[in-house]
Amino acid sequence: PSPVNEADTLLLRLIPYGNNQRLLIARDISEQKRLEHTRRDFVANASHELRTPLTVLRGYLEMMEEEAGSDGALTGWQAPIREMGEQSRRMNRIIDSLLKLARLESEGLQQRQERIDIPTMIQSLVDDIRRANSTTHEIVLDIEPDLDLYGRPGELESVFSNLLSNAVRYTTTDAGTIQVRWWREEDAACFSVTDNGPGIEAQHLPRLTERFYRVDPGRQASSGGTGLGLAIVKHCLEHHEAELEIHSEPGFGSTFTCRFPVQRALDRQAA
Ligand code: ADP
Repeated sequence: PSPVNEADTLLLRLIPYGNNQRLLIARDISEQKRLEHTRRDFVANASHELRTPLTVLRGYLEMMEEEAGSDGALTGWQAPIREMGEQSRRMNRIIDSLLKLARLESEGLQQRQERIDIPTMIQSLVDDIRRANSTTHEIVLDIEPDLDLYGRPGELESVFSNLLSNAVRYTTTDAGTIQVRWWREEDAACFSVTDNGPGIEAQHLPRLTERFYRVDPGRQASSGGTGLGLAIVKHCLEHHEAELEIHSEPGFGSTFTCRFPVQRALDRQAA
């Protein structure tokens, strides 16, 4: 069956039927859309409401973290206070990601598109990670310097930074190597991140971009992630008609590749 029209509340399909005939099926999806809107609004409102009390808690926790570091009344409480501080920062990251996802779903394609200098964007994200990250991972770049992309800068930055930070966080071996590539193929412009981390078993791959899906829930909750990174990546890529391909070999590592339609590729030499 091929969809012939997707109006706001009516899904129309035209199916071959008998000899040279067609059957038109119209399905009312207004209820489905209404439920989807209600869910989206609820998540956005709940995240927004949780933010205010959390900001108050975080403020007091920061004061207590400072106090516990001195010789004051909170001596001996350093470890639990540090842990509370860490958990409150994590909660804040989850709320930020939920709001970001809700915004991505509701705003759809409203954000402005422009020509983006992808090589510079990748370089500065990698510089940020090198500065912030205390691990000894080697990050190797293989970037086509004259290849730009037409798109939404904020969304593409989310895509690249989520994939990079996953590669850094999940590669826990000492000799971690992360390769970052940006290149052009005949029918696509591609960005990829390859790590030599733990890899992911095949049965998990189709579900990785679901919200809060984790391969190993116990271990990954403590990895500092939110469980929403790849869901955000998927949404942003959809807004650019791009595909996410994941190749992984347990024990050897993973490659996450984004393939953008070649119509979005802008060659600086040709400009
Ligand atoms: P999280 O915040 O938990 O990292 P993501 O949506 O970014 O959430 O990723 C979903 C899950 O995919 C992770 O919990 C992890 O199990 C797996 N995963 C993502 N990237 C990698 C990677 N580079 N190596 C191994 N596992 C990964």
